[in-house]
This record gives sequence, structure tokens and C-alpha cells, in this order.
Amino acid sequence: MTLPSEAQEHKAAELTAMRELLEQLDNAEQGRQQAETALKRLERAVESMHIGVTITDLEGKILYTNPADAEMHGYTVDELVGENIGILEAPEDRNRQSVEQVLKVRVWEREAVDARKDGTTFPVLLISDCVQGPDGPVAVVTTCGNLTERKRARRQKNYMFAVMILNIDRFQVINDSLGHSFGDQLLISVAHRLHACLRPTDAFARLSSDEFGILAEDINNETGATRVANRMKDLLGAPFIIDGQEVFVSASIGIAVSTNGYTHPDQLLRDAHLALRRAKARGESSHEIFDTAMHQKAVALLQLETDLRRGLERQEFRTFYQPIFALDTLQITGTEALVRWEHPHRGLLAPDQFLAVAEETGLIQEIGWWVLREACTQTRKWQAMLGDEAPLTLSVNLSGRQFTQPDAVKRIGNILDETGLEPENLMLEMTETAIMNDAEPALRMLSQLKALNVQLHMDDFGTGYASLSYLHRFPIDTLKIDRSFVGSMGTRAGASEIVRTIVALAKNLNMHTIAEGVETEEQLDLLRTLECDLAQGNHFCPPVEQDAATVFLREHPRER
Ligand code: C2E
Ligand code: CA
Ligand code: CA
Repeated sequence: MTLPSEAQEHKAAELTAMRELLEQLDNAEQGRQQAETALKRLERAVESMHIGVTITDLEGKILYTNPADAEMHGYTVDELVGENIGILEAPEDRNRQSVEQVLKVRVWEREAVDARKDGTTFPVLLISDCVQGPDGPVAVVTTCGNLTERKRARRQKNYMFAVMILNIDRFQVINDSLGHSFGDQLLISVAHRLHACLRPTDAFARLSSDEFGILAEDINNETGATRVANRMKDLLGAPFIIDGQEVFVSASIGIAVSTNGYTHPDQLLRDAHLALRRAKARGESSHEIFDTAMHQKAVALLQLETDLRRGLERQEFRTFYQPIFALDTLQITGTEALVRWEHPHRGLLAPDQFLAVAEETGLIQEIGWWVLREACTQTRKWQAMLGDEAPLTLSVNLSGRQFTQPDAVKRIGNILDETGLEPENLMLEMTETAIMNDAEPALRMLSQLKALNVQLHMDDFGTGYASLSYLHRFPIDTLKIDRSFVGSMGTRAGASEIVRTIVALAKNLNMHTIAEGVETEEQLDLLRTLECDLAQGNHFCPPVEQDAATVFLREHPRER
């Protein structure tokens, strides 16, 4: 089976351009002349296509038909022009003569049965579309693909096909900026170009507003599918001219090939969608072929999301605590709360095994508020146990998703009220990326938090995009030096210089510094020399669950 040649593709594009031209007709006389010129161009354009093209008037009278269409039906072109479209219609199938239906839906796609001159019938795929004149529809263009081959292929064993989903990149932007009717016309033009580049046996349908589904038949292998995808992308690469305006579009394509294991068409569609999402993530105008690794990863992610929801319901989350020390006295000032997940089958999970999905799904909000409440309650207990003269502090990580919740300040205030923890004993840790994402609203938010009297810490400092010009405007109390800098102190040239610089910067901005991830005596000594204020790390104590933390706090001197 051959694919349409490039020349034919260009003709298809020409057909679209002509349709656009027809739409701009402004009076009947000029309209007729232009229509005639256009028809001549059309005739030339579609002569060599092997998809049938027929134009009828609104009564169903055939104004034009191309050789492919005539041949498919066993007629000559002359025998058809002037006849009613009903001539092509099988007795049991009245679909063909449905101008009214087309006028209603504008683009109408269906499978039908057509009759040949000798009375035999064959399956076809028809796509009809109105040609708009200045006062509404003036004609109907129908493309007709012979489905005989496809139907036969379905009955063959081990033939391969590919399901492709094509999504127009940034269609929403076009729609929003140029209007919905412009967007609709663009989609119709896109559909025409795509349809023309497929083989008669391929099926084509619109799946949602800016998404098309293509069933490419008889694909030999993945290379075949890639070829079709590239062809479609190339074809869409030429500009579209709509209402005299030129637009460029690109598309992303997800592909699932009917290799093994599929028992239901839905599965292919699902996998093509997954591949599409992957393609979108790679950037505009990409395509991806679904593979099993992708499938397994998707299933694992979905499972994780389900488990996370259930974990919240069943209270499977735990709060671990890591003591924080003053570097001058080496006494404990407080702890940082770090979340863990006691998964029923997989055991105790660290944040890097579930936090990304929790962030993506927004579940981090619920988890984060739970940790805050839990840790405030626990810290109050420790304060009571240890005596209150220099109250133990609590550091809690706040996700960007929590930080941007409109009621975040109220929630934090409520949790402090309910648990009885003094606001000045609570340190909220936020990464620079979460804060700098949108600096102005962040500034407002931080000021409101500051008004609660809590302390604000910038976590992972030095790894994100903190803009120094903003830093001094933010009401931040402490910079947390990321453990990547602390860890390479003394081993990687320059790492201690970075730490020294951060400490100096903090001092100049009237901020404190905490070093995280201290693992060795040497690092500890260096940090003390550099006059960093506080530190935490496995060298002192790794994060531990609350009972172990209670023991640790009892047995170690605290800052008083
Ligand atoms: P982070 O806020 O930078 O927390 C410090 C991380 O360093 C913790 O990892 C801690 O266990 C680890 N750590 C402590 N001492 C050492 C050390 O000496 N050496 C090394 N190599 N690592 C050390 P963890 O507990 O796995 O948490 C990872 C990240 O997950 C945290 O990084 C934080 O960004 C996030 N996270 C943890 N709990 C929460 C939470 O309740 N809410 C939110 N939003 N994020 C959390
Ligand atoms: Ca932290
Ligand atoms: Ca960190």
C-alpha cells in the first residue's frame, strides 16, 4: 500500500486554501466567478488524489466530483456531475444524502455504505463540511475513503496498526487571542489537511476540542508510525490562512502500536494519551511512541496516588524529628519535623519516594497541614516535659502548594491557637524556588505570616533562583545552607567559600544561618570557624521517630 505523494499533500493544502477563498466571497456575481476559478483550481488540485472528493449544492446535486470518487463508484466523472448524490447511495443506507445534517454540525464524519454503478456496495468513510458563503453555507464538500481494504485487514491475523492522538499545541492561546470562531475554522482546516495525508484505509476522528484521533492501518512497525507522525507534523507546518490572517500551528502526537497484549481499543487510546502527555512534556511539535516502560511507570504512579489518598485516610504518615544545635554552645535549640510514610507493603518511605507525586496531585497540602498540627502538638508536649524557660523550637517545611493557598495564614494561625504553641517558637521553612516563583504575591504572603509572629526560614539556600535584589525585601529570619554545600566543604574546592559567603550575606542582611547535613567533625569545626549560627545533621543525630527523639532530648543539654 502506498502513501499519498508529497504533491498530493500540497494539493490538499491547496484545497484548504480554496475553501478559505470561497468563504470570503462578498457578492453573488463575483462569488460565482470566483467559485468557478476556484473550482478549476480544485479540479487540478484533487485530480490525482486517491481519496474521493465531491462538491454538492444544498439540494444534493453533484457540482463536482474527482476521478478517484467516480472510479471508486464505477462511473465516469461526466456521468455523475449534475446528478443527485443519491445515485451513490446504497439502498439500505440513506446517510449519503444528508446535507441537512452537515448544515447542522458543519463537519460530519461517519462510516456508510456506497453503491457502485453495477449495484454492488462497499464501505466508505465520509467527511462532509459546509462551504461558507457570505450569507451562510453555499455547498457541501465531502471526502470519501474506501474502507474495503481496512475491513479486510481487520479480518487478517497479525497485521499491525497504530492509534495516534494529535493535539494542537497551545490551541487555547489561539482561541483566546483570535476568538472561538477563528479557532473553529482553524480546526476544520487542520482536519482537512490531516485527512488528506492519510490513506483511504486509515480512520480519522475528532476526539475533543483540539484533539484528533487517527487509526493508521497496516503499519509495518514503529518506523511506519513515526513516518506518518512526521508527515502530519510537516503538513501542519505550512501556515493557515483564515479570514485573511496567517497563523502557524504545531502539534504533538502520542502513538500506541497494536503489538501484543491489547484486548480492548480503550487500552490503545489510553496508552496513546500517555504517550501524548510524554510528547507534550518534551516540548512542542514532538511525538512519542508508547512503550511498556512508560506503561509500568504510569501504573506505578497511579498506584502511588491511590495509596497516598488511602494513606491519608488511614493515618499512615509519621513525623520524624531531627534536633538542631547552636554551634557556639553545641546545645539543642529545637527540632525539624520531617515527614515519613509507613506504607503497609513497602515499609517506611522517605519523602523522595512520594513527595513529588504528592506535590503533583496537590495531596501535599493535606499532608503538610497534618505534619504541622502533629509536630506543634508534640513540641508542646516536649516543652512541658523539659520546662519552659528556653522553649524548644519547631521547624516545619511548607510546600509551595501550601504557601500559595489563600487561607494558609488562617490555617497556620488556627493550628497555633489549637495546639497552644507560641508563634515565635515556630519556624516555617520554604524553599527559595517556592518563594521566588512569583515574588510580589510572595512578599505579601510572607508579610502576613510575619505578622503572626512566626519565624521564616529560606530552605535549600543557594540551590534555587533566589534573586538577591528581592532577598533584602523579604522578611526572612534565617538562611538554611543546603547540605550539598556543607557536604562538600573541605573536599570540593570553593565549597567552604560558598558557605562563608552565605554566612556573610546573611549577617549583612541581619539574618541567621543554619547548616544542614553536617556529617563530620571536620565540617562541624569549619562551620564554627565560619560563625554559622545553627546546625543539624547525622553527625549530631539523624531524623528519628518521636519516642527516640524524646529520649534524645532528655539526655542532651539544651540551650537555656
Ligand atoms: P530538607 O528540608 O532539606 O530536609 C533535610 C533533609 O536532609 C532531610 O531529608 C534529612 O533527613 C536529611 N538529612 C539530615 N541530616 C543529614 C545528613 O547528615 N546527611 C544527609 N545526607 N542528609 C541529612 P528527608 O527527611 O529525606 O527530607 C527530604 C526533603 O523532603 C526535605 O528536605 C524537605 O524538602 C522535604 N520534606 C520533608 N518533610 C516534609 C514535610 O513535612 N513537608 C514538606 N513540604 N516537605 C517535606
Ligand atoms: Ca527543611
Ligand atoms: Ca535542604
